[in-house]
Amino acid sequence: MGHHIDTDCIHAGYEPKNGESRVLPIVQSTTFKYDSAETLGAIFDLKEDGFFYTRISNPTVDAVEKKIAVLEGGVGALMTSAGQAASLISVLNVCHAGDHFVACSAIYGGTFNLFNKTMREMGIECTFVSAECTEEELNAAFRENTRCVFAETLSNPSLVVTDLELFAKVAHAHGVPLIVDNTFPTPVNCHPFQFGADIVVHSTTKYMDGHALQVGGVIVDSGNFNWENGKFPMLTEPDESYHGTVYTKDFGKSAYIVKARVHLMRDLGAQSAPMNAFLLNVGLETLALRMERHCSNALAVAKFLESSNQIEWVNYPGLESSKYHALAMKYMPHGTCGVISFGVKGGREAAAKFMENLKLASIVIHVADLRTCVLHPASTTHRQLNDEQLKAAGISPSMIRMSVGIENIEDILDDIRGSLEKM
Ligand code: PLP
Repeated sequence: MGHHIDTDCIHAGYEPKNGESRVLPIVQSTTFKYDSAETLGAIFDLKEDGFFYTRISNPTVDAVEKKIAVLEGGVGALMTSAGQAASLISVLNVCHAGDHFVACSAIYGGTFNLFNKTMREMGIECTFVSAECTEEELNAAFRENTRCVFAETLSNPSLVVTDLELFAKVAHAHGVPLIVDNTFPTPVNCHPFQFGADIVVHSTTKYMDGHALQVGGVIVDSGNFNWENGKFPMLTEPDESYHGTVYTKDFGKSAYIVKARVHLMRDLGAQSAPMNAFLLNVGLETLALRMERHCSNALAVAKFLESSNQIEWVNYPGLESSKYHALAMKYMPHGTCGVISFGVKGGREAAAKFMENLKLASIVIHVADLRTCVLHPASTTHRQLNDEQLKAAGISPSMIRMSVGIENIEDILDDIRGSLEKM
């Protein structure tokens, strides 16, 4: 489109024709009517564009997918019912039972469980590496049957900035794609495709929505990966379950994302609901504006916490003192996100007291929302992890994750000051 990202957040994906609804309409229908069986057959065979069943695609969902593809700079996107489904499908699309993949250990706890338990039970093995590993350590994790690498741009909740160029270089040297979960920075603050990532996933539940209205996910395909290196027969050989389609031959650069839709979404049914796509789109319209405010508020909170003698440590990649600052400047020069992690002096008990004393900020599981909220990862989102896994995920018992919202910064700081004074 050639517009700046804040303009694309508003306009991309939907262009009403003469007399049509200015706002993206909610097409709340499972099915679509055609005058001839032949036309419907051609659409079903993917020979013509069109909608036939909302599990595969729907006009409201399609418009939002197109918007997100533009925001990330990809050739296509597939929205899912949750971020979890996006992570699952993104890997399952290129990994079968007997295959192996590599993932960073500093990832969202739910993704860790998905990879470490459910996918293992499906016969797909995952080797976890530190997001701060060296090139040699990363290389050592690969096997003959490795089919992809998975990392988070900015990990939840440890806020490690992954060296995307290093991960892409090593993945490509082994002939496999790099899949990046870009949930925390959003495409407003980071474009993983520019640094060599091949596939991006998001939990759209977070900043993209921003208002905590819906749970959703999305997979975006850069269209850049060469699947024809012999490692991906699922993309280069006929899919007998879809009329013998050879995805790379029939869909070129969109092979991966088309397969994810017509094969995996068809079979798994983890599609986005039209109403949720509509709500997500309303959030996306203000994403650029909100991210700016989230980042400036979070930096002010991080600086305040850093100056307080009641706080043991603060981790925010936007702080110059952060060991991830240089990487953050490289990959996210305009800001990272609104999430900060820190430890209150006094350990787990002090953390609980600090959180309970807050008045404006609420204790919720959610993160990346316009309302400031706090969470204790060790006893909630990451409670399934044992001590060793917690350590690998970068989580200490005293860690508080604060998701700084877009309220007035003075009110947020007053709330924090008030809580600390009562300690
Ligand atoms: N990825 C990241 C970075 C997340 O923070 C989350 C959820 O917190 C997910 C994926 C999973 O997304 P969802 O909760 O939408 O399934």
